[in-house]
Amino acid sequence: MSDTYDVIVIGGGPAGYHAAIRAAQLGMKTACINKMINKHDQPVLGGTCLNWGCIPSKALLDASHKLHEAQHQFADLGIKVSSVSADVPKMIARKDEVVAGLTGGVAALFKGNGVTSLEGSGRLYGNCQVGFTPHGGEEQMLQATNVILAPGSVPVDIPPAPMTDDLIVDSTGALEFTTVPKRLGVIGAGVIGLELGSVWNRLGSETVVLEAMDEFLPMADSRVSRDALRIFKKQGLDIRLGARVTGTEVKGSGKKKFVAVTFQDKDGEHVAEFDRLIVAVGRRPYTEGLLAPDSGVNLDERGFLYVNDLCATDAPNVYAVGDVVRGPMLAHKGMEEGIMVAERIAGHKPMVNYETVPSVIYTHPEIAWVGKTEQQLKADGEDFRVGMFPFVANGRALAANDNDGMVKVIADAKTDRILGVHVLGAQASELIAQAVISMEFSASAEDLGLIMFAHPTLSEGMHEAALGAAGHAIHMINKPSRGK
Ligand code: FAD
Ligand code: NAD
Repeated sequence: MSDTYDVIVIGGGPAGYHAAIRAAQLGMKTACINKMINKHDQPVLGGTCLNWGCIPSKALLDASHKLHEAQHQFADLGIKVSSVSADVPKMIARKDEVVAGLTGGVAALFKGNGVTSLEGSGRLYGNCQVGFTPHGGEEQMLQATNVILAPGSVPVDIPPAPMTDDLIVDSTGALEFTTVPKRLGVIGAGVIGLELGSVWNRLGSETVVLEAMDEFLPMADSRVSRDALRIFKKQGLDIRLGARVTGTEVKGSGKKKFVAVTFQDKDGEHVAEFDRLIVAVGRRPYTEGLLAPDSGVNLDERGFLYVNDLCATDAPNVYAVGDVVRGPMLAHKGMEEGIMVAERIAGHKPMVNYETVPSVIYTHPEIAWVGKTEQQLKADGEDFRVGMFPFVANGRALAANDNDGMVKVIADAKTDRILGVHVLGAQASELIAQAVISMEFSASAEDLGLIMFAHPTLSEGMHEAALGAAGHAIHMINKPSRGK
């Protein structure tokens, strides 16, 4: 192993591995140091996303959704099924196979692109020197011309609910249950709480979600949050808003252990008992051991690595990308930052457009949005028009017996430029890409309305909502809505 590189990336999650592959594609001699070890004690690439996040959670969401459809919806379609049930250990094993395939794929991409993969910890010193400590080995010094830091994030712990065996777990533990807890508690009705709460609820857990805030999903458009809350409650998720957890106690013994959770709401103090408790109260940047005192990299007041709009830190030729820097903690945001930085090092001039980062919550129906919400625009005093189209009036959604939700397009009242698009519905995660592309090209709602969409598709909901912003959707009686 030669010890000088054009680029050293610390962290092999989505942000880091995209940066490393792109840097190598651009002809730079690149190494990626990654310390993640999987549950079989093997070094793995792909970070949180591939190993404990996006991919395993979606494997369980998709499997549990199929089970739920077979149990509760097939009969409506004229399909008779008998004795459909979950094989949870098999479901978990299949999830692990998907993960293994993808993490192995990243290793193959590194090899194919000529990225040197270094298994162990990285530490940044001054002047782009990097200490590399292989697993179980001694630190050795490497020299880089440029360093990209991508160490990611870890779950937030809260003092009232410390992790305990496999009874009180974070999102990682919640992907590994091999039996269905009869009574499941979830702290936090955020993205993880809703996704993993949905998985185990569909598999049969009586699921209670305790959320400290009074408002449900305040980051989403308020119409979407309101409708989603109603739908999730109907699905059996017992979501309690304004419920702040103040303590937990493990009780019982052996197989009869359970967790007593104390929480406060407007009616006072309550105690609820659960067989398992998932703590999903947010994630924090992970920087332990990353920076030597002379690194020259600064943190912001919330512990994120401080960077400018182009992901440059305060140290020359040192960049930081992904969950460890400001902005939403989303894999695709980190990926685009990683690619931008690699290309900038190579002398290109790309930028990340933070105005068009899509957000998705993979419940069923899915929730997806890009741009501003109606409540944000109102608070900003903007003059806008809203077009809304419900899937109950969409032929494909009705044919599929999957017609909860709607599309909402918000456009500037004067210029008609699209300011935000919000989707609650089946395949919202796919539909939102149309809105992201439209906004990237500064499209107006009229532009979207003038485009031909295949029939019958869910995408026609997007088309009709865009037409609705001008008051002439075809498949609904238009009630022009305008806000300020
Ligand atoms: P990470 O993926 O955390 O990777 C960082 C890597 O750096 C790790 O391998 C770590 O071991 C390594 N590392 C850290 N410090 C060092 C060091 N000093 N030396 C060497 N290596 C180091 N996002 C989405 O966009 N869509 C989703 O559907 C989605 N679902 C999620 C579901 C769950 C349950 C969770 C927990 C997260 C989910 N996320 C999702 C968020 C997503 O996983 C993160 O945004 C993403 O993984 C961040 O990428 P990253 O590369 O910045 O960091
Ligand atoms: P989150 O910020 O989405 O939600 C945490 C929730 O916990 C908040 O609603 C908060 O009010 C609540 N909370 C905090 N303390 C509490 C307490 N003591 N009692 C009750 N409620 C409390 O965080 P998360 O769900 O842990 O997810 C972390 C991050 O991971 C997300 O912000 C997202 O960036 C990423 N993620 C993304 C996806 C996706 O893109 N589909 C999926 C999972 C995770």
